[in-house]
Amino acid sequence: MATEQAECGKLETYLQTLGHTLDRFLTFQHPDAMHEPARWRAVLERPLPAFGIGVDAVMEEMTRYLIPNGSAIPNPGCTAFITTGATTVGALATLAGAVASPQRLSLNAFNFLEEQSLEWLAELLQLPPAMKGLYSSGGSVANLVALGAARQHAFETVGIDPARHGVRGAARLYASSASHHSIRRAAAVLGLGRDAVVTIATDAEGRMIPAALEQQLERDRDQAMVPVAVVANAGTTDTGAIDPLQAIGTLAHRYAIWFHVDGAYGLPGILDPEVSPLYAGLELADSVIVDPHKWLGAPVGIGATFVRDRALLQRAFTQEASSYLERACTQETAQHSMDSLGIPYSDFGVELSAPSRGAVVWALLREIGAGGLRARIRRHNAMARQLAERADAHPDLEVLQRPTLSICCFRYVNAAYPDLDALNARIHRALVRQGRHIPSTTVVNGRLAIRPCFLGARTGPDQAQALVDEVLALGARFTQGPEPDTHNSGTMPDIER
Ligand SMILES: *Cc1c(COP(=O)(O)O)cnc(C)c1O
Repeated sequence: MATEQAECGKLETYLQTLGHTLDRFLTFQHPDAMHEPARWRAVLERPLPAFGIGVDAVMEEMTRYLIPNGSAIPNPGCTAFITTGATTVGALATLAGAVASPQRLSLNAFNFLEEQSLEWLAELLQLPPAMKGLYSSGGSVANLVALGAARQHAFETVGIDPARHGVRGAARLYASSASHHSIRRAAAVLGLGRDAVVTIATDAEGRMIPAALEQQLERDRDQAMVPVAVVANAGTTDTGAIDPLQAIGTLAHRYAIWFHVDGAYGLPGILDPEVSPLYAGLELADSVIVDPHKWLGAPVGIGATFVRDRALLQRAFTQEASSYLERACTQETAQHSMDSLGIPYSDFGVELSAPSRGAVVWALLREIGAGGLRARIRRHNAMARQLAERADAHPDLEVLQRPTLSICCFRYVNAAYPDLDALNARIHRALVRQGRHIPSTTVVNGRLAIRPCFLGARTGPDQAQALVDEVLALGARFTQGPEPDTHNSGTMPDIER
């Protein structure tokens, strides 16, 4: 049936169907899943519809073909990504915002929670009291915004407004070799250039070496280059290493350079008393980021940047006055939600239209509180440590990097098997195909590691144990009998499926 009219109500009916389908999806039994991508593609791949099929038919396709063939990420055994499956209240709050507050602007209750939840996050994560926040789509944009503030600060110091006039001359950013690639991209987008990022060496534990940073800063001191920021990691993406923040922050201050801390993944680790001392020096930061869509379990699309001075963000990112956005009233005199846009978040970052993310973070923290989040983080960190202990005790396993947070990099070893990188790559491929436990791999000090990151609200100690059991079983299978035929090493025997 063709229809010209979009359904604009009946959410009660459709949400019941949707909820039923999503609950079923989350059992990970996938009763309707079509395991070969070619099968669901055959159903979904269509030309642009000239006429609509109506909401009921769309819901039918969504529940039968789309949702059952969704991502492996929410599966508690999927430990490959740092982003994770959303918890229920975060998904509900996202939907609530999409319907009831499609923009974070204007003086409505969602807008109020934007600021309150940022303040909660700052307090929860023990940021310097003066720090103010801004939500964006995730860690990459959060880093871009923070480094935008750093760029503004650094160039203003030498008498240039980079947002107005553009960047003049060469700039420098200092980041460790374990930094996230979004740092380099931010340098590119901000007009500093990828090559402005100077890579500082890390130690065997993946932490920036302060002496190497100092040497570089000393070497650059008399160069005609604008030092924009020193970037430290509070939890690297690869291994969860935490850079020595105190030493790096002290150096940044001594050389009068902006100190940025990327805590997209690892900042919430500060809630675990076993590792919280590693965060000493966080109070020296000029900017900090964290991703609520990682450890907090928010639906993907929420990062947060914190800076000491949002006026600096405004100078860096203002879109300048636009007549249709002008509002006569201040927040105090406003009578109606549309009398004022509220805090001008759209002038602090790169998004104008943006969802109400604060309500999602509010809902997550209201549901489980700081105590609930702390319990989750301690559970995940303990899982990584227990995995390491088990690997230490087992002759066929080796820990390649001691866990700092919830990542454990380990591998299967066998004395008769020379190419352990190939063996572990083969084990990893087989794990992915079996689909119950999906870690990623990474390279630690030149050696291929199996890398689970325990982070999902659904992921508990059973997953860590079962993952190790599967690695041991696969390793034993692949190392029994003769060496694999090297001519065939690129292909996957059926037995591994
Ligand atoms: C995940 C991550 C990012 C990027 O975050 P996105 O939300 O994926 O854009 C940046 N830095 C670190 C340390 C991360 O772990």
